[in-house]
Amino acid sequence: MNSIEVQNLSKVYGSTTAIEDVNFTVETGEIIGFLGPNGAGKTTTMRILAGYLPATTGTAKIAGYDVHQQSMEVRRRIGYLPENPPLYPEMTVEGFLNFVAKIKGVAKCDRKKKVTTVIERCQLEDKTKTAIYKLSKGYRQRVGIAQAIVHEPRVIILDEPTVGLDPRQIIEVRNLIKSLAIEHTIILSTHILPEVSMTCDRIMIINQGKIVITNSPDELQKQLAGNYGYQLELAGNIADLLPKLAAIPGVVASKVITENLNNQNRDLVEVTCNADSEPGKELAALTINQGVSLYEMRRIRPSLEDVFLELTTEEIISNE
Ligand code: ADP
Repeated sequence: MNSIEVQNLSKVYGSTTAIEDVNFTVETGEIIGFLGPNGAGKTTTMRILAGYLPATTGTAKIAGYDVHQQSMEVRRRIGYLPENPPLYPEMTVEGFLNFVAKIKGVAKCDRKKKVTTVIERCQLEDKTKTAIYKLSKGYRQRVGIAQAIVHEPRVIILDEPTVGLDPRQIIEVRNLIKSLAIEHTIILSTHILPEVSMTCDRIMIINQGKIVITNSPDELQKQLAGNYGYQLELAGNIADLLPKLAAIPGVVASKVITENLNNQNRDLVEVTCNADSEPGKELAALTINQGVSLYEMRRIRPSLEDVFLELTTEEIISNE
């Protein structure tokens, strides 16, 4: 059985469609990165999964239980770290984790052991008696993760777990997440590409409420580095030309992207090519042989990379 199963999930806030027809599954033991720019719909999806927000349509199941109809079963099986974890600043770390264990239904006889275990796992041993308001942001985030996992849930949902941390704290929290992945299914959201490529088995990219790509970081990298294309500005019988262009060795696909460009009776055609092929000469020759006028032909960046850059522009530029 899959740990997380999401089908046709949509959420509409008034006139805003936050997510639309989202479908995905996460297998037990998998760590999946949910990547997308701000406003893409990550938090909305995670809040629905955690049972904190009803979906407008569609279903989400955790370990086979419907998040809406069987929310108590679901809450027992998930740990959720919201963007702003609900911490009680005046409480000590240990006091707070005891309190959370209690409200999450951990039996009194198990509580001490589970709190001690989570304190070790999250490397909070030095801070057990410290009031939460005195902790650095990195430690507070560890307490946030500790409160999410103290009842030993099977599925962990982490919303932007490293946001606002300094580089050293980011590495520590990433290592903590990786160590949890051995026994848990994890879904973590981020708007930063390196975050997911370092921690996750699989990346799911969401943009404007829709899942645009799901793949392993390696495969995604290949896809991103793989195909490239040409844009051709043409006038003539395009319908006949397109399948012939697509049949050239090395060409993956051809399609019209803009008809009647600038009202000049020209069409803009995009041809996608395999990374290891160089069919530019053949493309031009065939077009002219077919009696189609070729006004412009330019190489373009990988179309997938375009999608990706659009999603993560700031981070890619700042990491270069
Ligand atoms: P992300 O977590 O990827 O930044 P969100 O899920 O927070 O994205 O938001 C998705 C979209 O839904 C955005 O357009 C956001 O403005 C909108 N949205 C989120 N929460 C609410 C709300 N409570 N009321 C109205 N619109 C909302």
